[in-house]
Amino acid sequence: MSRSAHPAGPRYADVLPEGHYTAPPADLNVLDAHVWSRTVTRDADGVVTVAGLKATALAEEFGTPAYFLDEEDFRARCRAWRDAFGTEADVFYAGKAFLSRAIVRWIHEENLNLDVCSSGELLTALDAGMPAERIALHGNNKSTEEITRAVEAGVGRIVLDSFQEIARVAHIAERLGKRQRVLIRVTVGVEAHTHEFIATAHEDQKFGLALGGGQAAEAVRRALKLDGLELLGIHSHIGSQIFDTSGFEVAAHRVVGLLRQIRDEHGVELPEIDLGGGLGIAYTAEDDPREPHEIATALREIVTRECRAAGLTVPRLSVEPGRAIVGPTAFTLYEVGTVKELPGLRTYVSVDGGMSDNIRTALYDAEYSVALASRASTAEPMLARVVGKHCESGDIVVRDAFLPADTAPGDLLAVPATGAYCRSMASNYNHALRPPVVAVKDGAARVIVRRETEEDLLRLDVG
Ligand SMILES: *Cc1c(COP(=O)(O)O)cnc(C)c1O
Repeated sequence: MSRSAHPAGPRYADVLPEGHYTAPPADLNVLDAHVWSRTVTRDADGVVTVAGLKATALAEEFGTPAYFLDEEDFRARCRAWRDAFGTEADVFYAGKAFLSRAIVRWIHEENLNLDVCSSGELLTALDAGMPAERIALHGNNKSTEEITRAVEAGVGRIVLDSFQEIARVAHIAERLGKRQRVLIRVTVGVEAHTHEFIATAHEDQKFGLALGGGQAAEAVRRALKLDGLELLGIHSHIGSQIFDTSGFEVAAHRVVGLLRQIRDEHGVELPEIDLGGGLGIAYTAEDDPREPHEIATALREIVTRECRAAGLTVPRLSVEPGRAIVGPTAFTLYEVGTVKELPGLRTYVSVDGGMSDNIRTALYDAEYSVALASRASTAEPMLARVVGKHCESGDIVVRDAFLPADTAPGDLLAVPATGAYCRSMASNYNHALRPPVVAVKDGAARVIVRRETEEDLLRLDVG
């Protein structure tokens, strides 16, 4: 069980299912389609390919470690979400999962909206030509500079997260002669993770204004009075890596309860409700996430039912998937450096990256799959732990995995589903050079974020 065990999983994190990886898969060469992006296959030579490009050739050209992002898969996922929610709802891609200028362009071209939660993310979005009105700004401690930049640019939504911020955004908007469209982020007391959720009166966390105790209602009261703000609706985000919509059911019930209270108290029906992100993906063969259209149908039905029961016009729905769009689209390619057998225990396979390019295993006890990518193998399965090269024993990439027993230095390993929260959380720990992100499509590869260089490292160190 996870270090940070929690009844609904570690907060906004991941948890290991119990009794996992008890038996090796029948054939280690098989790539499970729902863990890998859609153009990944193993070719006739036994080499893993993506968009028709061999992992061996990609490693040769771009080096390792590197993230390879399947553009066709990314765009298909954008369209699946867009189509599932249709024109009566808005899909915001949560840029914190992974953002670059190419990603912003794809999001724009595929008609999604974009969530940002810092000045840097906003800068990237605007620089790549995302229309400001399709951007929403999040964060629990937005600086005056961030708010000013967002209001000046004309972002479509600012999600208000505290009493201070309500006053701050209103003040900045008024000073700039604008009326800023805003949502209020509320915590509904629901914490959801995989197939579980817990529902309490309060949430002990830094985000949002609590529904229980009336802070959220007070925030609405204040926001409605301020000329600089146009209050559009209520925002709620309940967790991460969620496979089951029952947590959303409780969240929507509570949010709609607030909407009804607002109508009764102020005579206004707020036109929008944002249920956040947190939809899960498959990291391993055991994970079974639901399709976007299933989620869309379930959420629409929940919101409609709750609003009808409350006698409210059904508001416009927004969702904010990050991981569910970009997560499955990329894999990380590593080269094996050493193989160390601990007799009777397991074999440690060290790769040329680690917690600097994927912190999620160390941070959340996240689970990943791994495959030998440079060749097929008929060797017996061995229980392996794929570890990085950092000076830290918690530097684990894949905690428990079966790899062919002949895995050796020089082999390439690919870890799928690393598109979300890997490059975006990458660090320079041990002065590692952060890996590139290479977009692949139709037999062509293009660097969209280049590898850091030693000059990059030294440039910040002014001596
Ligand atoms: C992190 C976050 C998201 C995206 O979460 P995913 O798990 O990547 O879908 C969406 N909305 C808010 C407010 C968030 O904080």
